[in-house]
Amino acid sequence: MSLLAAKIQETFVEPACERNRRKDADTRKKGCSKPPTPGAAAGGCAFDGAKIVLQPITDVAHLVHAPLACEGNSWDNRGAASSGATLWRTSFTTDLTELDIIMGLSERKLFQALRQIKEAYAPSAIFVYATCVTALIGDDIEAVCKHAAEKLGLPVVPINAPGFVGSKNLGNKLAGEALLDHVIGTVEPDDVGPYDINILGEFNLSGEFWLVKPLLDRLGIRVRACIPGDARYRDVASAHRAQAAMLVCSTALINLARKMEERWQIPFFEGSFYGITATSEALRGIAELLVKKGADEEILKRTETLIAKEEAIAWKRLETYRPRLEGKRVLINSGGVKSWSLVHALMEIGMEIVGTSVKKSTVEDKERIKQVLKDEQHMFESMAPRELYAMLSEHKADIMLSGGRTQFIALKAKTPWLDINQERHHPYAGYDGMVELVHQIDLAIHNPVWSEVREPAPWEDDPCVGERLPRTHNETAQVAPLNALWHDAGDFAEC
Ligand code: SF4
Repeated sequence: MSLLAAKIQETFVEPACERNRRKDADTRKKGCSKPPTPGAAAGGCAFDGAKIVLQPITDVAHLVHAPLACEGNSWDNRGAASSGATLWRTSFTTDLTELDIIMGLSERKLFQALRQIKEAYAPSAIFVYATCVTALIGDDIEAVCKHAAEKLGLPVVPINAPGFVGSKNLGNKLAGEALLDHVIGTVEPDDVGPYDINILGEFNLSGEFWLVKPLLDRLGIRVRACIPGDARYRDVASAHRAQAAMLVCSTALINLARKMEERWQIPFFEGSFYGITATSEALRGIAELLVKKGADEEILKRTETLIAKEEAIAWKRLETYRPRLEGKRVLINSGGVKSWSLVHALMEIGMEIVGTSVKKSTVEDKERIKQVLKDEQHMFESMAPRELYAMLSEHKADIMLSGGRTQFIALKAKTPWLDINQERHHPYAGYDGMVELVHQIDLAIHNPVWSEVREPAPWEDDPCVGERLPRTHNETAQVAPLNALWHDAGDFAEC
């Protein structure tokens, strides 16, 4: 079995993954990918998943060894933010042509690209991504990277997750494996402290981790490495000296968290910074793990003081939105930790949750939703676009919170919509992030555009037509007679 095949098999039996634990041996071997649903977007390939996880390491040059199209598939598709280096946003590819492949020039071209990047940009490291074409023609990127690292005198890291091996989620995990094999543990820091932590699976989307980091700073907790959001190569390379870790997006990097615990005794827990209660629980969790690793117990008291103060401020700020949002109905089509961590805070200010998706949620996530909602009927695994449209066009929700893929369903149903997934433009993490989310919900619901678009169009009440055009899902069934009416009315210009 090749090294890559062995790595893939290993991720399928990941013992820390609760979904894997529930499967029998045969199902486990088949992995986690499902065949694409006809009519639904297919999601990214394994290469895409690996690049999503690693690209936010900002002072690294990310070189895609492939024909041009692969880089176009993955470049900058998330709004992660950097507080310094901007190199990560520059697109590098070996841009292989048919001639390169037929003449066997691709490995040489890769080495030339590495040398050129080193000379022109002097990066902290270069990550080289294998893709379908270069894996199928048998390019040995491990060997080229090793040779280049010696010749050029900088870390050159092979990321072996070609697209065809599986899903985006598998690519996320293979990216974690690459960090374990080639990066973490390669730099020894000279400033190790008892309050050093790692945050794993945090992408700093729209700069939202910057709303959480000041809280940790106030507690005297240092983030040795936030992987990958706003990370620097050196921080990631020295992450093995942290005392504890928090895993934010458990499906992406759970293998990394588990193996760091086994190799370097860094205990971890799964938490979320979305929602007020979730943020407080996360801060408590970090403090408790640090105490278990030998930090002064006094940090627990400091954490409780900070939580009490910050929660009071956040609830007070949220209270100002109650008169405008009380009784408004929210549909959450997101999944994962957001499916429950947002619910509590929205309900606290009087909003009604008419449904929340549990597609990517763990068993624990689902249990929490049940506790908060007290009604399982509001949980749905996934909803077909047609059902989603019917629900929104019949005005069963005042706003939908979801990702970009479903935005046009909401817009077509003339329903306010807010992006809470990776392409969002506002930071929603921590206490301030929750207030920002409610502020954005308020702006979306009360945007005057909705009353405008729900008005009949001028031609719908035209006396020549006599009837207005259908506006709701149910009314579309009556389109045919209306078309006949238009036909009978003859030339519109005559009216
Ligand atoms: S790696 Fe393969 S599946 Fe992914 S974008 Fe490139 S060719 Fe397509």
